[in-house]
Amino acid sequence: MVMARTTGAFYVIGGLLGLLIIAVAPGEQGNPVVVSIAAVVALVLGITLLLWGTRLPHVVYHVYVALATVLVTVAVLEFPNTVGALTLATFYAFVACDAALFFAWPPAAAHIAFVVVTCLWALPNRSVYPELPWWSGLIPAGCAVGIGVVVGILTRMASEADVDVLTGLLNRRGFDRALNTAIQHATRTGNGLALVLVDLDRFQKINDHLGHRAGDAVLQRVTAMWSKIITPEQLLARYGGDSFALLLPGSTEQAAILLTEKLRAAVAAGCSAGVTSWQQGESGSLLVSRADVGLYRAKQAGRNRTVLESARQLPLAAELRDAIDRDALDVHYQPIVSLSEGGGKAVGVEALLRWSSSAQPEVTTEGLIRVAEEYDLISDLDELVLRKACADAARLQSTFAQLALTLNVNVSGLELAETGYADRVSEILANTGWPAQQLVLEVTESELAAESHTAIANLHVLRDRGVRIAIDDFGTGYSSLSRLATLPSDILKVDQSFVAAIRSDSPAPPLLGVIAALSSALDLQVIAEGVETEYQAAVLTELGFALAQGYHYSDSHSVNDLIADLNRNQGRVGPSGTANALGASDTDFGDGDARPASNGWVPLA
Ligand code: C2E
Ligand code: MG
Ligand code: MG
Repeated sequence: MVMARTTGAFYVIGGLLGLLIIAVAPGEQGNPVVVSIAAVVALVLGITLLLWGTRLPHVVYHVYVALATVLVTVAVLEFPNTVGALTLATFYAFVACDAALFFAWPPAAAHIAFVVVTCLWALPNRSVYPELPWWSGLIPAGCAVGIGVVVGILTRMASEADVDVLTGLLNRRGFDRALNTAIQHATRTGNGLALVLVDLDRFQKINDHLGHRAGDAVLQRVTAMWSKIITPEQLLARYGGDSFALLLPGSTEQAAILLTEKLRAAVAAGCSAGVTSWQQGESGSLLVSRADVGLYRAKQAGRNRTVLESARQLPLAAELRDAIDRDALDVHYQPIVSLSEGGGKAVGVEALLRWSSSAQPEVTTEGLIRVAEEYDLISDLDELVLRKACADAARLQSTFAQLALTLNVNVSGLELAETGYADRVSEILANTGWPAQQLVLEVTESELAAESHTAIANLHVLRDRGVRIAIDDFGTGYSSLSRLATLPSDILKVDQSFVAAIRSDSPAPPLLGVIAALSSALDLQVIAEGVETEYQAAVLTELGFALAQGYHYSDSHSVNDLIADLNRNQGRVGPSGTANALGASDTDFGDGDARPASNGWVPLA
């Protein structure tokens, strides 16, 4: 586009000035008609370039630049007035400037050489009297060379800041600029635009084991292979480290996936890719962050794959934003029960977001949380859930005056890393009257692994104020066991995948026993998640687990249903008379007298 505009503008200026000078300069010789025709041709070509130049392939511009030299030469040869002819020769500088701006050095040098030869030849060979000496072309030709070289050097210096030295591709800065230009173009034309982010799998290992030279060679080989696969309109850039970005103007998501698969097939060591497409109104940074989410998911799912992060999620995000603004999200509560005394005695509840989208009815709660994190809605969402949960828990508390219930609320690692988070929690507690000592914030281990100083500081402040911290889905994240001791945490929630592995036809997973021992050594409470059968409950009890949560006892319910349920069962949930499948007697189930006299819940601590 810049090339079309600049070349077109040079042509138009040349044409207009040519017509002007032919109109005002005196002289009876030469051929003013030919000069006027050359000026009009330049004007028309300039206007067509300005209007449609962006559709022309790059190679056609070589013809335009050479033709400009020819038109200037015709005008210089035939102009009726000597001074005017010398003035017209300054247009050679336009040509040299254009060539140096937009072509690589070798073709640019060829165009400038053509300019020099024709200039040196044309001025002394004019058909008009008085004849000019042989050296008359030296100054305009010298100016053209000087301007061409300086412009060429300055242009290359400016664009080097946008180029990655190792691969010769655009770097992140250059790519971001190209992306913004492509978005402006797509906004005007309504054409599609797809973006792919690709990471080479385990590239760090190549660097570590074989050295940085070997790593550099791999990056250069991959660049060479991929450059052969893509077309000139598609833009490949080195986005940083072992990350590449590919911008595909006019492409759909499906076409982008097909091309990505071709690129991936060319790399034997494997690579992961995230693909997305642009929607009207979206910024470049939003597009990149969505492709990045796809890339992240590809890595999480085991690497060496392509994941589409479809732009179709936008309606879902907008709908979720609207629901948050209208306070239209529901919170349901799943009881956490004590495994002792036959199990089923509710000691707390976990608040779980419940909302169904009309744009994407099949989306799971986990999917919603991911969309909320991606579209910067998570703080508002989590705050809303916390506020509702504290208010509902206060209602539960007043219904069962003697209970000391613990409320567990999930918190996203992103929100936790915000400054002022601890104060917002305290404010909600103050407004709803829910005691900090009865609040547990659940953070997943993988989120904690990506901990920031602010997140850890927030956890410390919250704990100082009495709030307890649970590590959710423990065992699935990346925290090393030793780090557990340093993390500000009080409770481990063992991931349901460990519990699901407890089956009557196979021995209990040894890790469960280790986690139970570890938590007792570190003085952490432990809750088993996803308990679905009586057998699992019995094995967990045997292994020393004190608390559990799962469908075996209760699914999540609205606060009204939960109050009704607890009232009916006097503070217990689940199948009445849960027997110990390992043979332990169940003394207080199936026998109303053996149950606690009141529906009194006990606190977690
Ligand atoms: P989580 O915190 O580990 O919550 C437990 C999940 O397991 C819930 O899924 C629950 O319905 C499900 N579950 C409970 N018992 C069983 C069982 O016996 N078997 C099986 N297979 N599943 C069981 P849900 O509600 O779909 O939530 C999924 C995740 O979404 C939660 O995992 C939590 O990480 C997140 N989440 C839910 N609500 C919120 C929220 O308000 N804020 C944030 N940041 N995250 C939330
Ligand atoms: Mg949880
Ligand atoms: Mg969990």
